[in-house]
Amino acid sequence: MRIDLHTHSSVSDGTDTPAELVDKAHAVGLDVVALTDHDTFDGLDAAAAEGERLGVVVVPGMELSCSRQGSSVHVLAYGADPASPGLAAEMARVRGGRLGRLTGVLAKLAALGVPVSEAEVMAQVGTSPSVGRPHIADALIKAGHVRDRQEAFDRFLADGGPAHVPRYTIEVDRGIDLVHEAGGLAVIAHPWGRGREHVLPPQVLAALVHDHGLDGIEVDHQDHDADIRARLRVLADSLDLLATGSSDYHGAGKLDHDLGCNTTDPEVFNEMQRRLAHFTPASGRPLPPSSR
Ligand code: AMP
Ligand code: FE
Ligand code: FE
Ligand code: ZN
Repeated sequence: MRIDLHTHSSVSDGTDTPAELVDKAHAVGLDVVALTDHDTFDGLDAAAAEGERLGVVVVPGMELSCSRQGSSVHVLAYGADPASPGLAAEMARVRGGRLGRLTGVLAKLAALGVPVSEAEVMAQVGTSPSVGRPHIADALIKAGHVRDRQEAFDRFLADGGPAHVPRYTIEVDRGIDLVHEAGGLAVIAHPWGRGREHVLPPQVLAALVHDHGLDGIEVDHQDHDADIRARLRVLADSLDLLATGSSDYHGAGKLDHDLGCNTTDPEVFNEMQRRLAHFTPASGRPLPPSSR
């Protein structure tokens, strides 16, 4: 069983449509793939239909933009009900903040001598409801200002960079509660990636487990080196957290994040399904029957 629980389609900042993503998951031999677009569930139906056709289990997911003390924290939601009113309202607010920040970013880019227009960015966004910095990066590439997304982040768009503008995010403890209210499991994505260990030190993760029932942490992720993975695994064991592993695939949008480059232990996935089964059908959304 090969299981990849964190991927992005063109419904957010990936480059494959949901169906293409599931086709590729099938082609590389994944048995289970979760679609976890940023702050939207819009790709799940198309992904599920393609999964059904090909015999790939598609886990309904989403990556929620949260924060702690002003630093970004991403919460992966699995099996959450898209119609849950509290979660849906906050996701809409986050998407509004994604669009609302665009004017400020474009003004900064213009002042930095690398102008792109809102229309040029929206051409890259296409029909995605979740406008992301990678779309702005794509407009910068198209305009000839940078070679690739990485250069756009390194020079302009990264957190704290010269063209960075903060946007609305949800406090991480509340984000976890909203996912649970929606019947889902909450797993913190790449908790110690990109030098973020100080944002979520062990005692904070412990408090999120004890006070908010955090379900898991992503351990095997490309943003974690071997030392971080080892220490996170020990922490997950001691806190009884699910330890997942995933690619964070973004199609052609992110190098070194190929589908299946990290995977989740089948025993961990079984436990996720057991926990999700408790929520259904009254309060949540079950995993597809084929995954049972
Ligand atoms: P946003 O959703 O607009 O906050 O942009 C965050 C997204 O941009 C992440 O999901 C990644 O896909 C990508 N990203 C964030 N930071 C970097 C970085 N330093 N280098 C390359 N890509 C990044
Ligand atoms: Fe992304
Ligand atoms: Fe993330
Ligand atoms: Zn992601």
